[in-house]
Amino acid sequence: TKWVYTFGDGAAEGRAGDRNLLGGKGANLAEMCSLGLPVPPGFTITTEACNWYYANDKAYPGTLKADVGAALDQVGKLTGRRFGDPQKLLLVSVRSGARASMPGMMDTVLNLGLNDVTVEALAKDSGDARFAYDSYRRFIHMYSDVVMGLDHEVFEEILEDEKARLGHELDTELTAAEWQEVIALYKAKVEEELGKPFPQEPQEQLWGAIGAVFSSWMNHRAITYRKLHDIPESWGTAVNVQAMVFGNMGDTSATGVAFTRNPSTGERKLYGEFLVNAQGEDVVAGIRTPQNITEAARIAAGSDKPSLQKLMPEAFAAFVDISDRLEKHYRDMQDLEFTIERGKLWMLQTRSGKRTAKAALKIAVEMAAEKLISSEEAITRIDPASLDQLLHPTIDPKAERHVIGTGLPASPGAATGEIVFSSDDAEDLKTQGRKAILVRIETSPEDIHGMHASEGILTTRGGMTSHAAVVARGMGKPCVSGAGSLRVDYRNGTLMAMGVTLKKGDVITIDGSNGQVLKGTVPMLQPELSGDFAAIMQWADKIRRMAVRTNAETPADARMARSFGAEGIGLCRTEHMFFDDDRIVAMREMILADTEKDRRTALEKLLPMQRSDFLELFEIMAGLPVTIRLLDPPLHEFLPKTEAEIAEVAGSMSVSAEKLRQRTEALHEFNPMLGHRGCRLAVSYPEIAEMQARAIFEAAVEAAKKTGAPVVPEVMVPLVGLVEELDYVKSRIDQVAKSVMQESGTTIDYLVGTMIELPRAAIRAQVIAKTAEFFSFGTNDLTQTTFGISRDDAASFLETYRQKGIIEQDPFVSLDVDGVGELVRMASEKGRAARPQIKLGICGEHGGDPASIRFCEEVGLDYVSCSPYRVPIARLAAAQAAV
Ligand code: PEP
Ligand code: MG
Repeated sequence: TKWVYTFGDGAAEGRAGDRNLLGGKGANLAEMCSLGLPVPPGFTITTEACNWYYANDKAYPGTLKADVGAALDQVGKLTGRRFGDPQKLLLVSVRSGARASMPGMMDTVLNLGLNDVTVEALAKDSGDARFAYDSYRRFIHMYSDVVMGLDHEVFEEILEDEKARLGHELDTELTAAEWQEVIALYKAKVEEELGKPFPQEPQEQLWGAIGAVFSSWMNHRAITYRKLHDIPESWGTAVNVQAMVFGNMGDTSATGVAFTRNPSTGERKLYGEFLVNAQGEDVVAGIRTPQNITEAARIAAGSDKPSLQKLMPEAFAAFVDISDRLEKHYRDMQDLEFTIERGKLWMLQTRSGKRTAKAALKIAVEMAAEKLISSEEAITRIDPASLDQLLHPTIDPKAERHVIGTGLPASPGAATGEIVFSSDDAEDLKTQGRKAILVRIETSPEDIHGMHASEGILTTRGGMTSHAAVVARGMGKPCVSGAGSLRVDYRNGTLMAMGVTLKKGDVITIDGSNGQVLKGTVPMLQPELSGDFAAIMQWADKIRRMAVRTNAETPADARMARSFGAEGIGLCRTEHMFFDDDRIVAMREMILADTEKDRRTALEKLLPMQRSDFLELFEIMAGLPVTIRLLDPPLHEFLPKTEAEIAEVAGSMSVSAEKLRQRTEALHEFNPMLGHRGCRLAVSYPEIAEMQARAIFEAAVEAAKKTGAPVVPEVMVPLVGLVEELDYVKSRIDQVAKSVMQESGTTIDYLVGTMIELPRAAIRAQVIAKTAEFFSFGTNDLTQTTFGISRDDAASFLETYRQKGIIEQDPFVSLDVDGVGELVRMASEKGRAARPQIKLGICGEHGGDPASIRFCEEVGLDYVSCSPYRVPIARLAAAQAAV
């Protein structure tokens, strides 16, 4: 096995494509070398060596020592030096480099090879004693910290004390002799803390650093980071050993970092910072304020410190030239590190630069215009989920955050407002023109008006598909759900968080993009749907195969979704239309009715309301498909719960509290989610389904008359498990359609289909498809019933599952492809076998999740349906899946 790959002097054994073996940094160093760019010679120990190390009880492969020795010799030849030889001193840097850049790992040791003897050689060699001792003290500090595990603050304290004693402000003011004193103090400290002297032997130093890189792959921070970012442990890390070049060799030397385009705006302008007479970590450490690289940036920043362009024009010109070449070569915005040693430029790193969503759009669009990439490639350059950042107000990244708790990032965007604990209070505040954050243990359908009236919603219980989360996403309101460390006390009107007690009226901010709850107001940035956004969306629409619909029931949501490009409604949850003040009364009358006749009378009142709802939706969707689902939740959701509520409702409805209580008790269920809901309601009370069907068809007739465009309503029956259920409900729907056609003298085209949201429905899909003209996968319930975990309660333990590595992703957020997905695949195949033209879609929350959308493309669904604000995400994700 080849464990070591060398690079230097215009040649390299590896290349950019070897990222898996050499890590990102090593692969790109090799590539830059091959391109003939000035890269200090060096070599990369492979990720396979790291894996071998862990597979063999932290031993090194047998030939590794010899291979490293040979590679070091080659570096010596190319530099005219020799590692450990004071006559021809060669110093090296040692850096880690995994496939993906990974904070938390050992990063860098510079100036390795220095000791009490070689430091004198370096002083003589360079003719600069101050530089030599500065390098040595840096080495002791870094090595003791990252290899020997001493706290870096120990050294910072010593240095601060010395600077104070000597009356210096900046590190650069220390003289050679003063650095020597610091070094003596550092070494004494190491011996005092660790009971052994600082290692003097260069080989021992080198292997110590290599071992530290490998070990850091398994340190706590790295493991946590990998878990969070789904990086497999088996990737391992590479080690890069490279001849040192010095940015701290006086005023003609410097070190810096740069992006080939602005990473926060995307502007096509070199953007970066540097420090004169410094080494790498000084730039990031913030000890001195870095200077701008270009003159234009310096002027824009109003800085009086000279730019690199002004200070070192030749090195600057070389750097501009190289950054252009690298960007063209990699065809992406690059993040660069460089060092200038006595006027000569050296490249230390290049990689694709991290960027904001806004910058990603601009860069992709402009690079396509520059013909650097195709429009197809441009759309793959954008993380669909990041589009969220652009559609909602977000917290200014520069703002200070006073975090008092964290929950699930249930619905993106940030909002600030006064705490209210009830929906009525939220409405009151809204009518006074004030902003509210609705804080609840959990929300129920009765909170819809409060959710509408508030800026954002915070719950302490419930997961990503809890009522609060689903409804908030639908409304496009920021929501943090399941913030379990917060305590809501309704009775005392308090919210307890990390020792602080907040009251009604206190101001908080929630960040639905990361789940944080913050105290007070925080500066926000407003959304801006620029031309770049539109351009990318257009390209995506050309490429994608699947249609994108929306889950919407209110006109406002439907309009919003249209403006985001929705191509119809994939799910209209009609139950959400029954909670307005006047409707809930009629609904309750219907539920309280003792006979079918009374029930029909109450339903008569609901009919015109439903009809006008549907008419408006049909008009907004102007000929696009609209799927309307019959009533789904159990009836007791519409009844009052507490004694006080019962008394109030009984009063206003002029029925006895006793009767109301009895009916509520009779409807009580231990497991409502598995109870009397979905098509089971339509089987028990077909008159409800009939009323809804009539409202749909009458609205369709009216819409066709008004707009001249035919509407083809899709009537959807929820929670079907038996084809007999569907047959029964469908015959009622067909009956109503027939009547409406006769009454109106028109024909209505319509489809009747079903949700596939129970395992039995998936298993019997070939039979169900004989009746159903379309399937819509209700993956929320399908996940719940396949796993046998409650979508409302699972958040409390799923996080533990994630932390323990039992699941990678919350299956309510990203479709469990292996299990639930298998049911979707199977049902799709069986459905198509029975009815080749069957329409297939998904309307569970997964319809807006990019990874799940990829799966939907694979299975060949016709459309995905998601909440309005996720429509752009779904359009882009569907396009990426089709590329
Ligand atoms: C589902 O179960 O996936 C679905 C879309 O229906 P609901 O979330 O309303 O139960
Ligand atoms: Mg469902």
